[in-house]
Amino acid sequence: MVLDDLGSSLRSTLDDLRGKSRISEDDVDDIVKEIQRSLIQADVDIELVRELSDSIKQRALEEEPPGGTSPRDWVLRIVYEELVDLLGESTELPLEEQTILLAGLYGSGKTTTAGKIAWWFSKKGLRPAIIQTDTDRPGAYDQAKQLAEEAEVDYYGDPDADDPEKIAEEGLLETADADVQIVDTAGRDALNQELIDQIERIENTADPDRNMLVIDAAMGQSAKEQAQEFEETIGIDGVIVTKVDGTAKGGGALAAVNETDSTIAFLGTGETVKDIERFESSSFVSRLLGMGDLEQLAERVERAMEETQQEDEDWDPEDMLEGQFTLKDLRKQMEAMNRMGPLDQVMDMIPGLGGGMMDQLPDDAMDVTEERMRDFEVIMDSMTEEELENPRVVGASRTRRIARGSGKSEDRIRELLEQHKMMERTLKQFQGMGDADMERMMKQMQQ
Ligand code: GDP
Repeated sequence: MVLDDLGSSLRSTLDDLRGKSRISEDDVDDIVKEIQRSLIQADVDIELVRELSDSIKQRALEEEPPGGTSPRDWVLRIVYEELVDLLGESTELPLEEQTILLAGLYGSGKTTTAGKIAWWFSKKGLRPAIIQTDTDRPGAYDQAKQLAEEAEVDYYGDPDADDPEKIAEEGLLETADADVQIVDTAGRDALNQELIDQIERIENTADPDRNMLVIDAAMGQSAKEQAQEFEETIGIDGVIVTKVDGTAKGGGALAAVNETDSTIAFLGTGETVKDIERFESSSFVSRLLGMGDLEQLAERVERAMEETQQEDEDWDPEDMLEGQFTLKDLRKQMEAMNRMGPLDQVMDMIPGLGGGMMDQLPDDAMDVTEERMRDFEVIMDSMTEEELENPRVVGASRTRRIARGSGKSEDRIRELLEQHKMMERTLKQFQGMGDADMERMMKQMQQ
């Protein structure tokens, strides 16, 4: 979202700087123009655009790059720092007991977001509850109830009541056992006095620790006015930008953040309760600028690992990192990969692989990989415990037996054994790596 387009256009402009030993004023002008064009296209407030481009220009021309840094890397660094600065830190969100009030216009994604936040907190080990106070929209009660079920969290609502304030009061009492109480409120097509009065009353009754404004990424400049209104009425502590999966814009959300002097807490990236990401400006901008996004990837890996582990309590990924890497580990890894989502999305987050490289692969290349994974699973079903624990015992005759048992070719089995060896080698490398090596490797990948 927001600066999607900026990422790719900036990358190609920056690529023109490759091999140059000095940057001219014209080079900087080109880069700044590119940034302005993308930001304006993304609905970013013109004043913000001017501020950002001015400071990039000034720094690129005045500051001396540290020795050994190429002009391209130096400008990239400046753009990165300025963008991170513009987006600000993520909204602080301590993992403790709290009440969160969600505000926003009708259709912005509030109710869905209530489910998502609840799910997010439950994954962090807290017990959330959703309280639905929207009495205007007929489907709101059922929708929130279903989302609470999906997120496996407590729920309170009253389809027969018509006083949102009372529901909030009652709901907070009824779900008092929960650690995080998330109060969803009604929206309207546009801000009107009735909505403002209502949310003010709910705010007074619920006395939340945090008021979050939910904004659709596709919303243009009118987001600013909306944010201002909510800010004056209840005060906004954090913004949640939804539907970032569906738009390349998002400038309105930036204006909202600026207007309320707050920060972005979460990004909504789809329609299920799991489609939520904690917003981190540094990783967001890294991803944007094609530096990959290892933090997000790490979080997804961890989550996928946790889910896999719940199903198989005997399996501990720590063992794998410490010592032996068996075929069982490989299988768990494959399962975890599947849970992380489509392979191309995952690849996009890895430095050096991102930036549309996956798009250049023929479509069926991806299928082959997935088909291979499925074959590997079938093959492993035909292997003995001993073979899974210690794949080195699999020689020619065992390969023949496994091929017969699984109905897969002997070549496929050899591929699996190869794959295992390769992963084992990679893991060994990681194990022997210090922080400095890691850093060097990351740098190489970003070239
Ligand atoms: P509310 O009126 O503000 O409570 O909005 P809803 O939660 O009912 O959301 C309105 C529509 O947007 C629903 O169809 C949701 O499934 C959809 N939606 C919400 N968040 C996202 C998101 O992050 N991505 C996508 N693609 N759809 C979303």
